[in-house]
Amino acid sequence: MLASYSINVRKRLTDRGRVRPPYMVRIGIAMLQGARHEHCEAIQNAAMEMNVEIEVVELRKRSQVDSSIHGLILPGGESTTMRIASQSESLLDGIFDWITDYPDRPVLGTCAGAILLANPGNNRTSFIDLEVSRNAWGRQRFSFEAQVNVALETPRITHNAHFEIGRDKYNHKPLPMSNQAAKPTEKSFPGIFIRAPRFIEESISCQKVATLNDETVGVIQGSILALTFHPELTNDRRFHRWLIGQAINKTQ
Ligand code: GLN
Repeated sequence: MLASYSINVRKRLTDRGRVRPPYMVRIGIAMLQGARHEHCEAIQNAAMEMNVEIEVVELRKRSQVDSSIHGLILPGGESTTMRIASQSESLLDGIFDWITDYPDRPVLGTCAGAILLANPGNNRTSFIDLEVSRNAWGRQRFSFEAQVNVALETPRITHNAHFEIGRDKYNHKPLPMSNQAAKPTEKSFPGIFIRAPRFIEESISCQKVATLNDETVGVIQGSILALTFHPELTNDRRFHRWLIGQAINKTQ
């Protein structure tokens, strides 16, 4: 089911002459736990920055993850909790089947989302060839922010965007984003690491796209982008623009 804010945005943006591709680009976000509402806001802002109209689909059950989804976000949070939350509606299974069925369609996995892609469980082989170590920077209080080096081509910003989501029917509202956290340059990105995992071994099929000092904190393999940090908690939406750009390119 579409969240009502998408409908409002669609109308407003259509009024403002936003580019509508020949079909509606639909981005699914796994609404299991964690920073999912922030991703909803970030992807809408990214679409505005690109002047593209999208539909955000809040994925809560397996049947929603079908061929009409062009790109997908697996948010960060707590991977164990996400696995448990997924059990009643088999959402993760549906998402993993969808990734297998549509290998060209882009996926953005952040933090716990990256852990799930590397270790999908249930005897599935991993979607990215790397070994990931959970909570490897230490406890919650050792969470930190640091500038990350990014080597990824992303669609440019052509329009200003400042879209805020109000409270939904579950009384959830995204965290306010601070502009100070995001002083991005082309190459550096404000990385927010919250009880983050570390990639301890990646195969050569993984392309490094984000590094912190010399350590890999973001990789692409095929159409899957896995980051150990939280881009949705900043005002720099380049990874979300990447997802939309890929979703348009790969499904036309
Ligand atoms: N520590 C979490 C886990 O192991 C991930 C943290 C996050 O997504 N911010 O699942």
